[in-house]
Amino acid sequence: MKINCTCCRGKLEINDKVVIDELNSVYHADCYSEMELNENLINWKDFGTMAVILEKHNL
Ligand SMILES: [Zn+2]
Repeated sequence: MKINCTCCRGKLEINDKVVIDELNSVYHADCYSEMELNENLINWKDFGTMAVILEKHNL
C-alpha cells in the first residue's frame, strides 16, 4: 500500500514522522507544522512514525 502526503503529495516512507488528522489524512510532520501557520487546518488526531500510525489506525 502506498500513501502520499496530503500536503506535498510526496511518498510517506515507513520510518517518516507523520501526522494523521481527524479525517485520516496523513502528512509529513514537517509539512503539517508548516501548514499550522495557516488557519484552515484540520485538527490532528495522532502522530508518530508511519509504521506505528498504519498499525494503529488501519489505513
Ligand atoms: Zn509532505
